[in-house]
Amino acid sequence: MLNIILLGAPGAGKGTQAANIIKKYKIPHISTGDLFRATLKQDNPISREIQKYINKGRLVPDKIVISMFKTRVQRPDCRSGFISDGFPRNLFQVKALDGYLEEINRKIDAVIYLKLSSAESLKRLTARWLCPSCNRVYNMITQPPKKDSVCDCCGVKLIQRKDDVPETVKRRLAIYKKETFPILAYYSKQKKLLTIDANAQVAVVSNRIKSALKKAKNS
Ligand SMILES: [Zn+2]
Repeated sequence: MLNIILLGAPGAGKGTQAANIIKKYKIPHISTGDLFRATLKQDNPISREIQKYINKGRLVPDKIVISMFKTRVQRPDCRSGFISDGFPRNLFQVKALDGYLEEINRKIDAVIYLKLSSAESLKRLTARWLCPSCNRVYNMITQPPKKDSVCDCCGVKLIQRKDDVPETVKRRLAIYKKETFPILAYYSKQKKLLTIDANAQVAVVSNRIKSALKKAKNS
């Protein structure tokens, strides 16, 4: 059994790495984002409760997130373990998770933290630009336009979405750091934290994760 938590700075490539891990270790990916979306498609007291918070633009309370997670872990595919992404996101959730896993005779085996420098996060997260005329999307790192900041098809000057401008991204990064720091400290104290340098290509990062997990499993 392998119970993993995946933490990663925005832009660190968490989704891609999660996909590699589930393939290699044959464990399901539990993403709170997916859980929310799946729950909201149903009509029951929990989904109505969640909808209320979303309508008000507020965070869904810890107790709802925790209960959603518990329900998910009880499904048969989690018998071999899981990789959790987006949960826990604060110390209250961390402790609730630990308590619950203890109840069912399980524990977190490893916490993978994809570490990315702020400069690299900023570079990756502000790389998306689009053409206001034809909506074609460019990535200034991986798929830049032929001519600087101008659409290949229409010659129109490219623009950025509000979410992708440096000020917004910087704010997001600051919130992420503040939220994540106590969680890292907690798992580091428990000697479960595997810090992976994510300032590299996907395949390189993937290999780093594999060898760190191997070491952790053998220790
Ligand atoms: Zn265009």
